[in-house]
Amino acid sequence: MLAKKLIVQKYGGTSVGTKDRIMAVAQRAVKTKRANNAVVLVVSAMSGETDRLIRLAGEMHESPPERELDMLLSSGERISAALTAMAIEALGEKAVSLSGRQVGIITDSMHTKAKIEHVHAGRVRQTIDEDMIAVIAGFQGVTEDMSEVTTLGRGGSDLTAVAVAAALRADLCEIYTDVDGVYTADPNVVKNARKLDKISYDEMLELASLGAKVLQSRSVEFASKYEVPLVVRSSFSEEPGTLVMKEDKDMENVVVSGIACDKNQVKLTALGVPDKPGIAAKIFSAIAQRGIVVDMIVQNVSADGSVADISFTVPKTDSKGALEITTSVAQTLGAKSVIVKDDIAKISIVGVGMRTHSGAAAKMFQTLSDNNINIMMISTSEIKISCVIEGKYSELAQRELHEVFALEKAG
Ligand code: ADP
Ligand code: ASP
Ligand code: MG
Repeated sequence: MLAKKLIVQKYGGTSVGTKDRIMAVAQRAVKTKRANNAVVLVVSAMSGETDRLIRLAGEMHESPPERELDMLLSSGERISAALTAMAIEALGEKAVSLSGRQVGIITDSMHTKAKIEHVHAGRVRQTIDEDMIAVIAGFQGVTEDMSEVTTLGRGGSDLTAVAVAAALRADLCEIYTDVDGVYTADPNVVKNARKLDKISYDEMLELASLGAKVLQSRSVEFASKYEVPLVVRSSFSEEPGTLVMKEDKDMENVVVSGIACDKNQVKLTALGVPDKPGIAAKIFSAIAQRGIVVDMIVQNVSADGSVADISFTVPKTDSKGALEITTSVAQTLGAKSVIVKDDIAKISIVGVGMRTHSGAAAKMFQTLSDNNINIMMISTSEIKISCVIEGKYSELAQRELHEVFALEKAG
């Protein structure tokens, strides 16, 4: 008989969205276990549940205390974990559901976006050693002194799965979702997007952090750091999915492997700030002190060089906070005004081949220009190019770029 493997399976919201879907998850888990594997499940809240809870919180308080939000939101995953464990028991296998705290997922105390510091794998290990399936509530952790429940940011169950797989040194971490792998673009937007058999950790990390929500970006960072063998596949089929792995030789030959779009940012512009040393430092240190992460920054200096406009993007959820801070700093600097633009989209092309091939940027800009789409901001790194454009053109831009870079054809 083959040696027993340890497999971590994570099921997203749609995959546990109904009673029948939970039963299907239980069946797959039981089948995997009966094929001589140790099985650990990580589940998300049932689809729509986290959004529903956020809406409810908003009806109680204009900006709900983050500690209480974490108490509230973490309950969604506990419900699906307990129901999944019950479904497994109904199929005749033993299962135990565990909250983040019971597992020992230790995080810092940044409520709603906590970082995992350590995973005590003892309780889960004991569960599988006793021949049971462990069903872990994703997305949540606990502070070191066990006093506070935290959550890991939207999409955080992916991170729970990868972190638990790393701690257990699992043979495989499978992310089950509602599409059958990682595609060259969001298959719900670009109809002829192509499923990739494999993708490098670096490309996946860029795609995820640039808006491809199929994997949470921190989970990819973690998987890359600990070299967790990761597969993205569908909970609705038996298709093999996409392997996220270390870069190999043939990946370099593909200039662009994917397109991502992020519509969750806003652009702020401080108009007419004096153009002298120290101004940018003042604005951005004030924003950083609030824990707001700034993404793209562009500065335009007036023709006579006396004043500048500074534009930058932040996550939509931080829009209010960023506006307050920028307005107050801008006033002390004698700036004209601060404006916010929220209907923007950041479109990005990603590929490790960009390291060795030139021309991708020119082709991207030309494509946007041919479609009369104005570029408001540009940023590049070794393996990606991003442009901020009007939000209303986001789908058109993704489809046109997909076409021009011929992504529907295998590289
Ligand atoms: P889950 O609830 O299972 O975590 P998500 O909704 O977070 O699922 O992620 C899956 C979704 O990611 C898909 O339905 C798809 O619309 C979107 N997506 C965006 N970019 C991509 C891509 N490049 N490949 C596959 N899916 C993508
Ligand atoms: N339920 C959480 C969310 O909707 C976490 C997750 O699904 O991964 O963001
Ligand atoms: Mg997700």
